[in-house]
Amino acid sequence: MSHLTGDPKRHDLSSFKGSITGSCLCGSITVTINENLFTKPRGHLCHCENCRKATGSVVATNLTIEEKKVDIKDRDGTLKLYADKATKSGNPVYRYFCAVDGNPIFSKVDSMPGKVTISMGCMPVIPKPEMAGFTAHKHPWFNQPEGIRSYKIIREEEIMGE
Ligand SMILES: [Zn+2]
Repeated sequence: MSHLTGDPKRHDLSSFKGSITGSCLCGSITVTINENLFTKPRGHLCHCENCRKATGSVVATNLTIEEKKVDIKDRDGTLKLYADKATKSGNPVYRYFCAVDGNPIFSKVDSMPGKVTISMGCMPVIPKPEMAGFTAHKHPWFNQPEGIRSYKIIREEEIMGE
């Protein structure tokens, strides 16, 4: 990752019409989403405590998509799974991360078969999210982007386990 490609404004979004590829910090794991993500707002922010811990951030930037549209390559065999059972519903969130650098890569829940939620921080450009979940737990100093739908607690069947 060079300092040039680290600036999302330097990327021509038309180069991501067919797909977009990101990687973890050490480069072992690459994630390719085979869809144009930049035609409309996509994905969701999550303000839940578990996502904050798992991402080390004030909010998680997630995008839930059909698994068949995603290619994940694990060059050095560093992809590890943590079954997060400390959820409100008791249903586990299966959190996959790179064991070398700790980067969150994606998560899955049993209630959404065939879907995967990508941790979008790995991508060179993150599309503007269409919604935000767990806004009841949002930090008061964090300004939600304008025009995105908010859910106090995300509906499990729609996004991910609570
Ligand atoms: Zn890595």
